Amino acid sequence: MLKSILSGQSCAKCRLCCVFDIYDIWETPVFTDEIRERISAVKPDAEFVPKDGGWIFKTGELTAEQLFNCPALTENGCMLGDDKPFDCRIWPYRIMEVGGRRAITIASICEELYNRPLSQLVGLLKDGLAETIFCYADEHPEIVKPYCEGYPVLLFEK
Ligand code: SF4
Repeated sequence: MLKSILSGQSCAKCRLCCVFDIYDIWETPVFTDEIRERISAVKPDAEFVPKDGGWIFKTGELTAEQLFNCPALTENGCMLGDDKPFDCRIWPYRIMEVGGRRAITIASICEELYNRPLSQLVGLLKDGLAETIFCYADEHPEIVKPYCEGYPVLLFEK
């Protein structure tokens, strides 16, 4: 979904968004029933908990030093390929509720995109990505996260 500005090679080298620590464990992706079943078929040990009609991984309590690797992450990248969850397909864009309104923010941990000109980041949203994200969130409100400080707001819903 971000292929026009984010290359697959950059993501393959990084994978930071597939590994979570105590500070961003709330960021683990939300899965549909179908994707959850697909992961379970390959990784039967992966545990899930319901989230507003979708599913997230059961991660348990992490200590400050612990990391949680997404069970869908393999040596060759995400086992879900192009069928990865919507959350992951729009990363590092996030949809959050900010003061009662939905907005699209960006995660600073993705250095590859975070350091791009604002015009490019917002431009992609205005070129149709924002509409795609808001429409998906209408059907899947579970992907809307509460606002988290440190995530610059790029665009509010009209
Ligand atoms: S589902 Fe795939 S892309 Fe998303 S966090 Fe897990 S490994 Fe990464």
